[in-house]
Amino acid sequence: MESLEVFNQSLHFSITLFSLGVLFLACLFAGSVEKISTSLWLLFCGLFIEFCAGGMESFIIGVYTQGGEITGYVFFELLMLLAALVFMALAATRILIHNIPSLAVVLTISILGVFVISFFTFISPDGNMVNSMRQIFPLAAFVILTIAFFSASGQENSGGYLFGALLSGCVSLFVLIKLVGLEIANGEHAWFVPFVVYILYAISFLMIKSDALMQKLNKTQDEVAKHNKRIEDIIKSSPFPIIISRLSDDKIIIANNNAVKLFGINPKEIEKYHLKDFFADSQNRQLLNERLEQEKEVQDFEILVRTPNSDTPFWLLASANVIDYNYNVVLYSAFQDITSRKNRENLLKNQATRDPLTSLYNRRYFEDEVNKQILAAKAKNMPYSVLMFDADFFKRVNDTYGHKVGDKVLIELANVTERALRDKDIIARYGGEEFVVFLPNITAEQGYGVAERLRESIAAAVVYSDENQPVKFTVSIGVSSSDISDNVDTLIKTADEALYKAKQNGRNRVELFSTKDLDAFIKQGQVERRDESNNHHPIFDKENTAEISLLDGIETNQMQENTTVIENKKTGA
Ligand code: GH3
Ligand code: MG
Ligand code: MG
Repeated sequence: MESLEVFNQSLHFSITLFSLGVLFLACLFAGSVEKISTSLWLLFCGLFIEFCAGGMESFIIGVYTQGGEITGYVFFELLMLLAALVFMALAATRILIHNIPSLAVVLTISILGVFVISFFTFISPDGNMVNSMRQIFPLAAFVILTIAFFSASGQENSGGYLFGALLSGCVSLFVLIKLVGLEIANGEHAWFVPFVVYILYAISFLMIKSDALMQKLNKTQDEVAKHNKRIEDIIKSSPFPIIISRLSDDKIIIANNNAVKLFGINPKEIEKYHLKDFFADSQNRQLLNERLEQEKEVQDFEILVRTPNSDTPFWLLASANVIDYNYNVVLYSAFQDITSRKNRENLLKNQATRDPLTSLYNRRYFEDEVNKQILAAKAKNMPYSVLMFDADFFKRVNDTYGHKVGDKVLIELANVTERALRDKDIIARYGGEEFVVFLPNITAEQGYGVAERLRESIAAAVVYSDENQPVKFTVSIGVSSSDISDNVDTLIKTADEALYKAKQNGRNRVELFSTKDLDAFIKQGQVERRDESNNHHPIFDKENTAEISLLDGIETNQMQENTTVIENKKTGA
């Protein structure tokens, strides 16, 4: 490919040298891509040695015209051309998609080449053959390069290789034309050919580099896509609801099936939702965000959630992490529905304070709560009343219709009472078929009126037996009030005393425990009175002797004895 013209004029020489410099820089730049670095440098070396061989030829011509001995120089020039061929062939082995072993190429070409050069310069000197070899070695080199570049041009992003193949092919053709002796190529004006070829190779190198970068980018993108796919697969197969939302704008990017169901998300319009839309309590959300800002992750954080299709908020346990996903900083949140757990917790809490049959408060809660309310009422000098009521002839209901219907009556009693009273009144099931009510801000007289109304409401109620028979029931009510005591036990006890009177006076009626009754009550002591009476008492016949014995002036032991006596004498109504 070399032109002697290059070495005849210093301008041509400088320009060609400049283009070699450009090729060197292109090599340096493209060489940063590992895979192609060596092959490009080998190719550069090959082209450079070939350029030097051109200089050598020019020198030999000078020596020859002065009549000097040139055989040694020719041998050396041909060796240089052979070396150029070896370097370019080595470059080709590395450009080929399926690398071929370079040692074999080097040995084969070198041994054959050295043999041929030695033969035609020393053993059987042949000027024509030497001239031909000056073209044959570069021709072989560029043909091998053409094949190598072409083999690599089939892959994705390989415009640089294709360009290299075309260029090498053109150079091969040029050298071939020179070989067969056509004047056009060997003419006076061919000095610029090396310049053009070096510049074009430099361009091809840069293209190869950009191709390699593109390939790397594509590979990275593929890897990111695979990575994202893996994350998505994990999310989809998770038994927990999982949501990925972008941190920058809070938009939901991914929601798995479980999350779609849980949050009522339309899977076709996921990008329309923001995570904040689902928080029922903004303070709760604020707290979560603060924790995330500080720690980048939270575990087992309880959040109150609302969905677009329902107004009832529910509790979720959330674990969230800030992670990188698909070139975004996102929040990965996994949830667990803990509504049932919360319900169970509430149930347990209720079990401690509620009666399981009627869902009314139990006695312990009543006493604690009424204690507090009495203190508050006393501070404000407000009145209050306590009602105690007991189902009349309830044993008969059980005996006649069965225990189940008895339960039904108790539930209905509770319901009617709740409906008849105010929200702030405290209603409790005190014992079997006995109930107690605290009425804040109600005087004794008003309390009597409330009791009377309640009695009427209960008397009007009805439940039905399994045979659809109507079952009617009544209650007797005793009323006590803040006029009597500010002690919850005494209040209950005196209301019970009035209840006892209501039973004595014929049942289905209300009796008020008045201040007049108080003196006699204290003086007499209800235990002795019970002793005299052979009737059973709704509370004292029951299990609560210890609690009632706390009342002033009543001895526990004495009362237990009396209770036993009463139990034995019990006649039943
Ligand atoms: P009195 O008018 O004097 O109150 O008569 P009574 O029959 O209601 O009185 P007694 O105390 O003899 O009977 C109460 C009955 O209430 C006895 C008991 O079996 C029944 N009882 C207590 N708790 C329950 C309950 O939870 N369910 C049902 N079905 N019956 C209950
Ligand atoms: Mg009863
Ligand atoms: Mg009773």
